[in-house]
Amino acid sequence: MSIVFRQETRSSSFLDPFDGFREKRREVQIREDPLTGAVSRVFAYRRRPPQQSETADEDQPPVCAFCKENIETMTSKFPPALIPEGRLRRGEAVVFPNIFPYDTHNAVVVITEQHEVGITEWSAQKLVDALAVSREYIETVVRAEGGRWIYSINWNYTPIAGASQIHPHLQIVLSRQPTLEQGRLIESGRKYMETNAGNYWEDLIRAEEEADVRYGGRTGDIPWLVSFAPRGFVPDVIAILPNDTDFTACRHEEIEQLALGLVKLFNYYGSRRVTGANLTLYSQSPGEEYFWTHARVVPRLRISPLNISDVNYFKIMHDEGITLFTPERLCEELKPFFQKD
Ligand SMILES: [Zn+2]
Repeated sequence: MSIVFRQETRSSSFLDPFDGFREKRREVQIREDPLTGAVSRVFAYRRRPPQQSETADEDQPPVCAFCKENIETMTSKFPPALIPEGRLRRGEAVVFPNIFPYDTHNAVVVITEQHEVGITEWSAQKLVDALAVSREYIETVVRAEGGRWIYSINWNYTPIAGASQIHPHLQIVLSRQPTLEQGRLIESGRKYMETNAGNYWEDLIRAEEEADVRYGGRTGDIPWLVSFAPRGFVPDVIAILPNDTDFTACRHEEIEQLALGLVKLFNYYGSRRVTGANLTLYSQSPGEEYFWTHARVVPRLRISPLNISDVNYFKIMHDEGITLFTPERLCEELKPFFQKD
């Protein structure tokens, strides 16, 4: 018998606000399915499964740790060796460690002082500050630790997309090992360049520009493409940062263009009564010429009647997307939002 139960433990430290800001370590088990290599992250320190709730607001805590009056006392701090001030700030955005870390370096970025922000209420400036301070955090870790880091900036926007808090926040994950999807993207990009002597994302932009059926628009240098093979009920949208092999090396104007495009995309979602989405920006440091930094946004839905979840057996058991209408149709609707100022 040659079945191997492969498991690795990664440890993360932070100053705990619920224990006088004493340093705490928490571990996450990274387990691989013995047959397929599919990865699970297991919080072994949790003793019970979370409670099921009947309504969305039943489990909301009475106070929000991310609101301005609580953030100093109720959120964690980085160990001084990494960030002497404890937290990073820019505008209204604040970065601190996740007390339920998914990996060695996992930070939370509270985007704004506003507790709840509707999908059409975003100002680009708030997103610029959150993305810019995210970049500063990633630079800080890379500088302190050296070597190669695979990282992502992630957003569960509203509880429908998996957020455990109403208050809008990003999560940054840095790891020595890519996640399954990051590994697929990096490896496929490398193979594409070997085979085609070109960068996949550069060729994709050109191909979609020529076909002009999934090219939603452009904010400055950044194209917004509707995914050819989507993964959610509603086709997802990809924003590519041309030539940026590493997000930490991108220009500030590109962060502004990314934020502006997100506001336009969110305005489109608002017009379709979508209230939440998942976003991930994939990158690595140092960058490689075969990989360009890009973000993917997947809207999340519940469908009436029965409040149907948009994750069914095809996604959770087969890891394949089910999409309810074509990317080309979504693109027709999206284009006018990118033509407005
Ligand atoms: Zn709040």
